[in-house]
Amino acid sequence: MKFHQMNKDQIEKILKTNAQTGLSEQEVKKRIQQYGFNELEEGEKQSTLLIFFSQFKDFMVLVLLAATLVSGLLGEYIDAIAIIAIVLINGLLGFFQERKAEKSLQALKELSAPQVQVLRNDQWVKTPSKEVVVGDVIKFSNGDRIGADVRLIEVNSLEIEESALTGESLPVQKSCRDLNESELQLGDMENLAFKGTMVTRGSGKGIVIATGMKTAMGQIADLLQKAETMITPLQRRLEQLGKILITVALLLTVLVVVIGVFRGHDIYTMFLAGVSLAVAAIPEGLPAIVTVALSLGVQRMIKQKSIVRKLPAVETLGCASVICSDKTGTMTQNKMTVTHLWSGGETWTVDGIGYEPKGKFYNAKHQLIHPEREKVLQQLLTFGMLCNHAEIFKKNNKFTIDGDPTEGALLVAAMKAGYTRKSVLKQFSIIREFPFDSTRKMMTVIVKDQSGRQFIVTKGAPDVVIGECKAILWDEQLQQLTNEKKAKVQNAVDGLASLALRTIAIAFKPVSENETILNEKEAEKDLTFIGLQGMIDPPRPEVKKAVKECKAAGIKTVMITGDHVITAKAIAKQLGILTNEGKILDGKALSKMKADELENIVNDVIVFARVSPEHKLKIVKALQNNGHVVAMTGDGVNDAPAIKAADIGIAMGITGTDVAKEASSLVLLDDNFATIKSAIKEGRNIYENIRKFVRYLLASNVGEILVMLFAMILAFPLPLVPIQILWVNLVTDGLPAMALGLDKPEGDVMKRKPRSPKEGVFARGLAWKVISRGFLIGMVTLIAFIIVYNQYPEELIYAQTVAFATLVLAQLIHVFDCRSERSIFARNPFGNPYLVWAVISSIALMLIVIYYPPLQPIFNTVPIDMRDWLLIIGLASLPTFLLIGSLFARKTK
Ligand code: ATP
Repeated sequence: MKFHQMNKDQIEKILKTNAQTGLSEQEVKKRIQQYGFNELEEGEKQSTLLIFFSQFKDFMVLVLLAATLVSGLLGEYIDAIAIIAIVLINGLLGFFQERKAEKSLQALKELSAPQVQVLRNDQWVKTPSKEVVVGDVIKFSNGDRIGADVRLIEVNSLEIEESALTGESLPVQKSCRDLNESELQLGDMENLAFKGTMVTRGSGKGIVIATGMKTAMGQIADLLQKAETMITPLQRRLEQLGKILITVALLLTVLVVVIGVFRGHDIYTMFLAGVSLAVAAIPEGLPAIVTVALSLGVQRMIKQKSIVRKLPAVETLGCASVICSDKTGTMTQNKMTVTHLWSGGETWTVDGIGYEPKGKFYNAKHQLIHPEREKVLQQLLTFGMLCNHAEIFKKNNKFTIDGDPTEGALLVAAMKAGYTRKSVLKQFSIIREFPFDSTRKMMTVIVKDQSGRQFIVTKGAPDVVIGECKAILWDEQLQQLTNEKKAKVQNAVDGLASLALRTIAIAFKPVSENETILNEKEAEKDLTFIGLQGMIDPPRPEVKKAVKECKAAGIKTVMITGDHVITAKAIAKQLGILTNEGKILDGKALSKMKADELENIVNDVIVFARVSPEHKLKIVKALQNNGHVVAMTGDGVNDAPAIKAADIGIAMGITGTDVAKEASSLVLLDDNFATIKSAIKEGRNIYENIRKFVRYLLASNVGEILVMLFAMILAFPLPLVPIQILWVNLVTDGLPAMALGLDKPEGDVMKRKPRSPKEGVFARGLAWKVISRGFLIGMVTLIAFIIVYNQYPEELIYAQTVAFATLVLAQLIHVFDCRSERSIFARNPFGNPYLVWAVISSIALMLIVIYYPPLQPIFNTVPIDMRDWLLIIGLASLPTFLLIGSLFARKTK
């Protein structure tokens, strides 16, 4: 017998589980040990050894190794060994960088892995999908990806899209009925749900029958898509740039060698010098350092509660010019408390804090009342409790809810009047449910009371519900819903909304026994309006400041909400999003607008209210066509297209569905608007840091090449020997560049306008900085060499040592200038401790190479006189300080 043919009891028996209480944690551990994790195997990973060897596959490095081998054979053992050692250390550094980048990307993937709701020891908990075992009971709802293959035991209008498995793109309706046919296609097994498929509607519960490679998905998973390795636009641009730089560096190197030979240097020395220069000057390490900087930045972002799912987003974040954000939960706390109730012209208030079901009811004159004595109030409260999916429970002595906070608030309000869900369910049993969705903006249940009478109870957005009502309860009487009464209801709704309250309307209708209700359309019509419940959802305290910071950073904040126009307006005002000039547009007007009409006005709209998720895509497109780089948040299935279309799609970590998360490039772990601002700040910083070390490395390389080139042109001996060139490349380039990648953002990073996404790597004068500083570094090194060489022409080694020290110091001083694009004094030059340490250790290593006798013959060095150190320090400071004057001159213009 196959699983789809078995009933619930048979499955429980075979899989040794209990659908009521789930498995125990111990049993789960045992099953994981026995059967493994619920994972699909991925393609092979690159082995560690391969990553290591790939560090040496660079053409110039191979030439260098070959040349070293030749010099070894010619008897230059020390040179050969030293060069090989340096190449090895360089390779190791590259290897560790690459490994680190890979590991952190892997860790990221795990962080954004889906979670599953599972019943363990009689309690619903969230666990990583990986840890689900056969026999577990799991539940899922609209927007979830199913974590394992399950036999359904409870469904609620459940529809699942199984195209990944069956190719059928229309969702399939699921049920839990027993099926008899033994040979069924996957698509017809309506009582099973499969791993990796997506819930598009309703909710369900099931017992896991297969995990990992044993699932239907696992069986076809040989073709499983390999994890995409994403490369950011900047990385791509740098790669292209790298090719140009390599060609230029090689040409210049050849030029150095040819002129050198022409000037009478021996061919072998020039060849080795040329190869070393090529190895040093070609920025082959750049892409690796960029990856490390990106992944370290991404880790910093995790600490600030945002997970980057797609690496390119890190860059795009820095270009964002508009943030379109949901209101509920992102700008507000999503901690709802009912404070006002309204029915038939009467208003009541309730006090109490949070989800604690303690509070008193008052009438409009602030007199204490007893809700059990007011009939309509009772109906309003109990129906709000019935048409409800949330649960209230006490955890660590605090009342918390499981489910939608809006519904939680309705539960708590009823509990304050003395009802419990249990007592209400004794009176009414729920027969059927049409779940809430943000397009319909309603939820409905069909219930039966003890005498067998059936009712439909609907709750939803007041303007929608009232449209479906024919009658109204007024003074405990059923009355016709005249236009006059409608206006009174509308007045009440506006009154509550202007207090920034979220409003829910409650309505009902009796259903005769022989009437069958097929769908929600039939259920949600000809209703009788009962009343309103208004709830506060306080703004998150940090949002106001974040909105202000975004404004200073040239980023506009737009609120997109399903909530009532007046509620949205009140909250947008409180948060400083909406000022007097800002426009509000509601969903109805938006629906009627053509794309180009919206494009014309979208720049002025600050709040979109009563919109459906489908509208979001239209908004994103209109903004993009106005030249904006758009960040858009979302959580539901219907939000996914807009999230995907946005330049930065943002999904909520807590309330977000799997589908929204999969479509997103950024996930907010705390669902908080302020986190978007932090992510943008970090995104800007990462980009600036990359620019910093690109600038530093390239300027250093320009300096290295030019000193050699000009020495050859001016017919001087080699100012640096090969091993010194390699050493400079290893010690002064690698560490400080990494440290620059860890730099903190500059104070004004959120005071600048967003970067244009079209901007090139060398934009904003970076090319000039690289060439001018590089030129100066080369020149001062050459000058130091020439001065000392002219003084002691017979002591070439001494002059070379001085040139070496000058080059190293000039670079290490210049690195501080790279921290800001304004001037070295724009910020405390020593504010980055990593950089200070990197520079101190590079200087120490240089001193060791110069003063430690055993190393002197290897590095072709001799101790330097105190007097010459003054010359070296003076000259080495010039490239950095020489141009400050010109900067001030430019500023004062
Ligand atoms: P945002 O897009 O800012 O998150 P929202 O959460 O207010 O907005 P929706 O969830 O689409 O947007 O809610 C729209 C309206 O539907 C609400 O204003 C409320 O009146 C009603 N509503 C919300 N939740 C429920 C629910 N669970 N049952 C019935 N009606 C609801």
